[in-house]
Amino acid sequence: MPGTGCSEPDNNGGMEERLTRITFYGAAGQVTGSMHLLEAAGARILLDAGLFQGRRSETRSLNANLPVDPRRIDAVILSHAHIDHSGRLPLLVNRGFHGPIFATPATRDLTAVMLPDAAHIQQKDAEFCNRRREYRRSIGRDDLECEPLYLPEDAERTYPLFRPVELGEAKEVAPGLRYKTYEAGHMLGATSMVIEADGVRLAFSGDVGRKHLPILRDPVSPDPVDYLIMESTYGDRFHKPVSNVAEKLADVVNRTAGRGGRLIVPSFAVGRTQQLVMVLHQLMDAHRIPSIPIFVDSPLAVNATEVFRKHPELFDAETNKFLSAGDDPFGFSRLRYIRDVNESKALNSLHGPFLVIAASGMCEAGRILHHLRNNIEDSRNTVLITGFQAENTLGRKILNGDREVPIFGEPMQLRAEVVRLDELSGHADQGELIEWMRPLAARLKRVFLVHGEPAQGAALAEVIRKEFHIDVQQPSRGHSFLLN
Ligand SMILES: [Zn+2]
Repeated sequence: MPGTGCSEPDNNGGMEERLTRITFYGAAGQVTGSMHLLEAAGARILLDAGLFQGRRSETRSLNANLPVDPRRIDAVILSHAHIDHSGRLPLLVNRGFHGPIFATPATRDLTAVMLPDAAHIQQKDAEFCNRRREYRRSIGRDDLECEPLYLPEDAERTYPLFRPVELGEAKEVAPGLRYKTYEAGHMLGATSMVIEADGVRLAFSGDVGRKHLPILRDPVSPDPVDYLIMESTYGDRFHKPVSNVAEKLADVVNRTAGRGGRLIVPSFAVGRTQQLVMVLHQLMDAHRIPSIPIFVDSPLAVNATEVFRKHPELFDAETNKFLSAGDDPFGFSRLRYIRDVNESKALNSLHGPFLVIAASGMCEAGRILHHLRNNIEDSRNTVLITGFQAENTLGRKILNGDREVPIFGEPMQLRAEVVRLDELSGHADQGELIEWMRPLAARLKRVFLVHGEPAQGAALAEVIRKEFHIDVQQPSRGHSFLLN
């Protein structure tokens, strides 16, 4: 039985009142779609409500079919603003959720710019899907009309539900159910958390970051708990030290500029982009890279950067040094932020080396696709990959060095140099995850590994068992466990 080390789902649903149970509905055996249902103290609380991302046909139905009735959810606790953690909030609202959403003020402010953007992408996706449907109909095949998962109005209706909770403040989410957050060091406003109810202490890591990342403060481990839900994105990897970032970035910029090429940098608009900007700012100030134009080509990144400027209380000491010197960490003379789509297109006719940062980070949508189409067949150019690339994404194909990659449905020859800069990863590696969990492991009964592909989770599970001699589970979707 669950609770004694077996991983079978628990269907003992008769004892509703005092039942403390966790059910994994997303980021279970995969990286995206983070959503866990905690039933405790008589309340039903969702930890995260993230969007599944990846191959269109599969993710469409995964996202559309909510595993819970939103009208029966009492509250949502959001670990951070990334879309794979927050992107189904508007869908919950669309289908009747009207409870509070607890998150840090920075997470609330970031979701306020990210969710409308996600809604816009949903609309574009549906349009694209319907154009393909037109084609399929023209050759005698038919299938259902595609609808966006939700609309910008749903995203707007999500914002008033937020109940901002300061980092470290203990908060009662429902009678008898309290939670407290800890700096996760993963993105601005991101938290880990401990939830206490029915005499059980449960920690949810959210996404755990790394020490010394630009802008962010270092992750903080919670105090000991009974159960831990922990991410495992890089459960079998060891990253190189963050201190390599500046040198590696300088090398690739110098090498590409030296051959007259362009640097195309797919990046998450929120977080990674601001970190890259800050490191490039430092490198240019120190004359370690040539004074080439740098573009942040993403309206979302522009909006998100404004949110960053609003929350200096979350910056690390290095970034605060910029501020106290009266300098803007996110602005310098060679840097231009681009909102306008025509300006974005004009980049293609620009001569000489330049660097462009654009979303999406996994090259699945957005302006980065145009930059890739226009540049990857030229061997002078470089594609600089700075973030995690999920299976089946264009970013993963580029990273794998596939000689031919599809862009807008067309096969393109990948001749540009591909450079991977893992050091800026917002996710702890195996050793860092083990160190992060050490302070909370004293009386741990069980660890649930989420947010990782199965091989990553399996590798990490083995190390945890060896190191701490405790039970580790890798739940699959729909899997429930009693907590006692
Ligand atoms: Zn994240």
